[in-house]
Amino acid sequence: MATIVAFHAHPDDEVLATGGTLAKLAAEGHRVVIVVASDGWMGALGEPGSTTRLDELRASAALLGAARVEHLGYADSGHGPVLFPDPPDRKRFVRAGVDEAAERLAEVIRAENADVLLSYDACGGYGHRDHIHVHAVGARAAELTGIRVLEATAPREYVRLVTSLLRTLRLVVREDEETQSWFTPRADITHRVNVRRYARQKQAALAAHRSVVQGSGRLARLMRLLVALPVPVFGLVLGSEWFAEGGGATATGIPCFDRVGGAKQRGRPPRRSAGGRAAVPPVSERG
Ligand SMILES: [Zn+2]
Repeated sequence: MATIVAFHAHPDDEVLATGGTLAKLAAEGHRVVIVVASDGWMGALGEPGSTTRLDELRASAALLGAARVEHLGYADSGHGPVLFPDPPDRKRFVRAGVDEAAERLAEVIRAENADVLLSYDACGGYGHRDHIHVHAVGARAAELTGIRVLEATAPREYVRLVTSLLRTLRLVVREDEETQSWFTPRADITHRVNVRRYARQKQAALAAHRSVVQGSGRLARLMRLLVALPVPVFGLVLGSEWFAEGGGATATGIPCFDRVGGAKQRGRPPRRSAGGRAAVPPVSERG
């Protein structure tokens, strides 16, 4: 049995990107550890609601069968054009040095003697600054520990199709040009996991993020739509999860690097498998 550390930016990311995979791993007897960089809270701790999203993450993790949840101690960096000052009691994740944050993650990886690290692709999927930082920190933690890395992503071509559909439904408003560099070209995806059997768990875990689902804005509307779908339909829509090993080809020629200088210098995560560790990820299928 293997130990998998799933590294995520915020509470709720563990579901959409990897929820079915984690549920499948746990159901098959593997040890699943979820590490979240930020608590999903912009303000100071102690304010009303400051622990809500971590509480929701713990509820979601229990539904997915995870054995442990860790928070690296950072605040949410937010997604708008403005990066706000740090709250008084902790740094925003994007302001944490790559080495500092990677060492915190590496501590968990070492303590767990973990076999596989799940991280994000070079664009952090859709380009959120904290998600891009997860990629850099995950890659550095892999260098520090020698762990094998699979980067959660989705086929860029499929994402374009879905976003144009969502735009038609007025659930997202992004322009095509902005979505061009999102996620990973299909040719660079190394693993696809069929998680339809775990659709019920994945949907329940998503619903556990109540403050997000009940929030305002288009994302919340989309979340409400997803948690209201009949389980078989939810399984059709979110029944696959994808990973790229070794950074895929996302390390060159992708506009997001220009926006986030530094990620490129950090380089690709190592391709090596650590000696004596699982050479094949426990549940994924090539394709
Ligand atoms: Zn996120």
